Amino acid sequence: MQLATEVRTYTCICCPLGCSIEVSIDEDGCVTDVSGYSCARGKEYAANEAIRPERMVTAIVCAKGCLEPLSVKTASPVPKESIAEVLEAIRALRLEAPVRTGAVLIEDVCATGIAVIATKDIP
Ligand code: SF4
Repeated sequence: MQLATEVRTYTCICCPLGCSIEVSIDEDGCVTDVSGYSCARGKEYAANEAIRPERMVTAIVCAKGCLEPLSVKTASPVPKESIAEVLEAIRALRLEAPVRTGAVLIEDVCATGIAVIATKDIP
């Protein structure tokens, strides 16, 4: 067994049980062991959180011709270090009503390969 140089503890946020999961990481930043999870989903979450944490990004933007704000989100989680840049890209959007739920507003936000989509209709 390879010696771990660091053990990090994460609380799984994939379901309400909130298992405490320990992830061992070697000196090269590779995951060597994961323990404390109750299911494969939690194991994957904690391993990803240790080496490449990701988050969904949600925001509210304005659209010309509509007083109602439009809620938007990334279609899938983006790397945590990209969140500020993604929010800037969303803030720079210049939209015009109408916009439909699911409309792709940015195809590949900040070269993440992930789209930003509308999550509501505005007339
Ligand atoms: S490890 Fe599985 S059971 Fe435990 S909190 Fe995560 S998703 Fe829920």
